Amino acid sequence: MQPNDPGNDEIAAFRHLIDASERVVALTGAGISTESGIPDFRGPNGLWTRVKPITYQEFVASEDARMEDWRRRFVMNETFAAAKPNAGHRGLVEMAESGRLAMVVTQNIDGLHQRAGLGSEQVIEIHGNSTRGRCVECAAFMSLADVRRMIDETGASPRCACGGLVKAAIISFGERMPSDALSAATRFAAAADLFIVIGSSLLVQPAARLPLIAKQSGASLVIVNRETTPLDAEADLILHRPIGAVFADLYPQLVN
Ligand code: NAD
Repeated sequence: MQPNDPGNDEIAAFRHLIDASERVVALTGAGISTESGIPDFRGPNGLWTRVKPITYQEFVASEDARMEDWRRRFVMNETFAAAKPNAGHRGLVEMAESGRLAMVVTQNIDGLHQRAGLGSEQVIEIHGNSTRGRCVECAAFMSLADVRRMIDETGASPRCACGGLVKAAIISFGERMPSDALSAATRFAAAADLFIVIGSSLLVQPAARLPLIAKQSGASLVIVNRETTPLDAEADLILHRPIGAVFADLYPQLVN
């Protein structure tokens, strides 16, 4: 950024809020991973402009939908594996190392926060992750290697030992959120002194309620998102800029 760039004031204000905080909670969405090469859903190049997501109800009702869901899952996991954490993910690790970050609540299923260096106890994955399968009946887990082997051997979607359908261990559209992850996320939001939304359209409930819970409990709210969100009017500071550039400005050591 140039010395007289108006963005400097935003970064200074953001830094001031972070330095004044002891319990920062970040809510991250698909937008934090686009600069790592993983498309978001609702941005201009979002996946929704190309493919319609398979809902939980469609998965349970149709073998074709299940096979298509697993096919897409394996393709997506290859994209996740090839992706590298970017300045946004690494900036949150810097914040954690400074002792200010209480929790990252993520809607993402790509595992990039952990690969950037956050411990699993520092991340609440409210939509699960796509590293394994889970039975929709008894909740037993199945490794992806076993899922693939069953599909190859039977030509059909995998079944659990109990007979239940096995779906990737993520929360699909139309599926109920796990109450333990959501109540932990709500507790952290209510205890935050600074709540930062990074790369979320804030259109998916109940995650989109978390910034309001934080705000009503007295936290400052910062939104870092290229496009406007329904909660912009509630924010103390909004940065409509690319996430990587914001975090590279905040933590110059990430790029030097
Ligand atoms: P979303 O797609 O609804 O919104 C992403 C937002 O990020 C958009 O408003 C977009 O303008 C903004 N954005 C994108 N790239 C940006 C950048 N580089 N800098 C600044 N802003 C940027 O995402 P969501 O709110 O997380 O909801 C989508 C749902 O889809 C989530 O629930 C998630 O589970 C799932 N999803 C996950 C991944 C992933 O794991 N990486 C990817 C796609 C979708």
